[in-house]
Amino acid sequence: MTELTPVKLLVVDLDDTIWHWFDPWHKSFSALLGGLAQLSGVPEPELIAEIRTIHQRHGTSEYSWLVDEMESLRDAVPDGMTPRDFYDDALHAQNSARREATKLRNGVRRTLEQVRSCGTNVVAYTESLEFWTRWRIRTTGVDGLLDAYYSSPDHDAPIGIDPGELRRLPHDAYILKHTEHRHVPRGVLKPSPVVLQQIITDHGVLPEQTVYVGDTLIKDVEMAQRVGARDVWAAYGVNHHDTRYELLQRVSHWTDEMVEREQDQRPGVQPTPTFVLHNSFEELLSIFQFLPTTKRRP
Ligand SMILES: [Mg+2]
Repeated sequence: MTELTPVKLLVVDLDDTIWHWFDPWHKSFSALLGGLAQLSGVPEPELIAEIRTIHQRHGTSEYSWLVDEMESLRDAVPDGMTPRDFYDDALHAQNSARREATKLRNGVRRTLEQVRSCGTNVVAYTESLEFWTRWRIRTTGVDGLLDAYYSSPDHDAPIGIDPGELRRLPHDAYILKHTEHRHVPRGVLKPSPVVLQQIITDHGVLPEQTVYVGDTLIKDVEMAQRVGARDVWAAYGVNHHDTRYELLQRVSHWTDEMVEREQDQRPGVQPTPTFVLHNSFEELLSIFQFLPTTKRRP
């Protein structure tokens, strides 16, 4: 039997590592885009170009106030009506598609339970913003399976919009009962090592006692390697040859350089991961020996 690598802290990326993100994103965004084009009469390419600038401004590809902020959607809105009311059908289609497609990846729940039963802390670090991350933690039922998650605070609502208006469920529905949220500074993006270093320090372990798992080579794997943590690539994440992926690239908040680099297959452009999960998150259990997260003596 191969010897397992001992580790004391598990840090995971969330989107497409522990739950499906791209698939629900594509289904929900396409539903929104189609609805907006139909109701406004503005062609999709024009909407896409404007959406990209808004996403880049706010550092997210799932900006909750898109409809309220898009100039090109205003002309079609009758006097006395808000854009949010006029485009309600499109927003509704987006939300139902998201709800329907959001789910954990195979084997994730079992694996997290197993790791936690060893006394190892499990922490998430995501570039996604607070609201949707919290919603996914609740929707996929991992509240409590993660000790904490680190993410940026929510983007600000545009002037004149009450964020409460978007939250149609009772306040309680958006609160996590067990998983703690820790803010990271706005604008710090992977592969910056700053946040992962902070997570490791917060848990009193060494980088080599930390395993970090993520599905994006140029962000997740590169960051873990910079920090000196055990880097693991979730190769089962997103298939970049999926033709649907192009839509995400066209509206992504990533810079052009990052979008191009992610697709660049020339040698040396993508970091080489130390460990690879080929088919499932569960493969972690056959690579690492999970030990209790005990703080080092100073
Ligand atoms: Mg990811």
